[in-house]
Amino acid sequence: MSTLRDNIVSGRTFAIISHPDAGKTTLTEKLLLFGGAIREAGAVKARRQQAHARSDWMAIEQQRGISVTSTVLQFHYNGYRVNLLDTPGHQDFSEDTYRTLLAADSVVMVIDAAKGVEPQTVKLFQVASSRHIPVFTFINKLDREGRDPWDLLQEIEQVLGIQTYPMNWPVGMGLDFRGIYDIHHRRFEHFDRANQDYRIVDYAAMHDQIPDDQRHALEEALELIMDAGEPFSEQKVTQGLLSPVFFGSAIANFGVKSFLDTFLQLAPPPTPRPSTIGPIDPSREGFSGFVFKIQANMNPQHRDRIAFVRIVSGRFERGMAVNHVRSGRVIRLSQPQQFLAQDRFIVEEAFAGDVIGLHDPGLFHIGDTLTEGEQFEFTGFPRFSPEHFAEIELKYALKHKQYQRGLSELTEEGLIQVFHPTDLGPQIYLGVVGPLQFEVLEYRMKMEYGVDITIRPLNYSIARWIEGTLPELGRFDRARVVLDADEQPVLLVEDEYTLARLQEKHTNMRLHESSLLV
Ligand code: GDP
Repeated sequence: MSTLRDNIVSGRTFAIISHPDAGKTTLTEKLLLFGGAIREAGAVKARRQQAHARSDWMAIEQQRGISVTSTVLQFHYNGYRVNLLDTPGHQDFSEDTYRTLLAADSVVMVIDAAKGVEPQTVKLFQVASSRHIPVFTFINKLDREGRDPWDLLQEIEQVLGIQTYPMNWPVGMGLDFRGIYDIHHRRFEHFDRANQDYRIVDYAAMHDQIPDDQRHALEEALELIMDAGEPFSEQKVTQGLLSPVFFGSAIANFGVKSFLDTFLQLAPPPTPRPSTIGPIDPSREGFSGFVFKIQANMNPQHRDRIAFVRIVSGRFERGMAVNHVRSGRVIRLSQPQQFLAQDRFIVEEAFAGDVIGLHDPGLFHIGDTLTEGEQFEFTGFPRFSPEHFAEIELKYALKHKQYQRGLSELTEEGLIQVFHPTDLGPQIYLGVVGPLQFEVLEYRMKMEYGVDITIRPLNYSIARWIEGTLPELGRFDRARVVLDADEQPVLLVEDEYTLARLQEKHTNMRLHESSLLV
């Protein structure tokens, strides 16, 4: 029987981040195939595509349903128990995407070799980086013509401010792509284009596989990496200061297996999490965990929600009674769910790093702590900067009570953020990370609370939490100071240019992209 310690050591919980279309879904699918979690390529993709064909409520419903089953995918590979957290992208990009990163112990960043570092990658990277967790890079689509590898590494270093270390090096690209040299294992993976397959050969045997000019180029690159670059440091990887970079092609399944093998070796097992009584170590005996995401069921006939809990310590067993610290209530976890690529199933036991889904009768808030009886709470759950803002109006004043309840519950669930402009009386502003959240809000207010609302977009696109002196804003400043739900002042601004101008003008004001809730 495996011990608690075995289960900690073998656990790997990570998220894949990328800009849309870089190849996250394709890579996920290949990883699941290696893990035996799906049987055929296309399974994940097909569901994603359904999700993309969205223009009416049915589709949103479908989409939310899909997100539920793919919030976390567990598979076993090479003795590891792997939890892959899904970070919603495309239209369902939202604050949940950021929050998922709070549950991860490391991150894989997929970059399109032709496009380099793109905006959504930057935002997600910054969240991971603020937690100092290891970031591994997979540069994808080597089977196509892309940018120079050095150029890509330099861009990652300059734009993201993290050191890079190439774990392998591509030989050619696009039509001339011959394979990759695995620096870590000193072997060559030869790309067999005709059969879309690969063969692993040692360095000597590589000579016969590639033309002289490409071999020279590779030798030159390897020399440069050894001499000029930063040496590889596992410690720096662990601290999130250096990103190991892997080149490959997800669609051709090239370089994916060696990436997975090395990644699982280097990625950390479940890490301690900060709490009101100091860091909680995964080896601590009592069960503990925190809610990082709440997913509503969009079907009005089933109003239940699912709260996703990341286990931090101890062993979870089905049917156990746990303490919901914020409310002081004891709850029995009898129907907890875990997720495979195609099904959800009832989980009997789970360990640090695992994620379980709990039926939520409306009890849970983002950041809530569950323990086996202890009184501490996990800390460090920020609100992230919304990018879309709107005014909201209730259509029929009679429904005021339901309206208030709906707004407050959906805010606590983390669907929207509410801001109070200090000079507008009871008027409120809403903020969301992804614009689809407004549609979801309107729909859920109607279906779950019987309330019709009107949502009017505002011109702001940036929110920054203010530290220091609040700025005096003039009438034409295209900015406004509001208070968040904890009465912390937040600056809403229309665009980057205005933001830069205000920062120049108000030097005593420090601005932050997220707020710590606690
Ligand atoms: P996501 O939006 O990041 O999940 O990206 P997808 O995995 O859906 O991929 C976006 C597009 O890129 C799809 O058309 C894929 O078939 C394609 N794609 C993914 N990986 C590769 C690759 O390694 N090479 C090439 N040429 N295309 C790829």
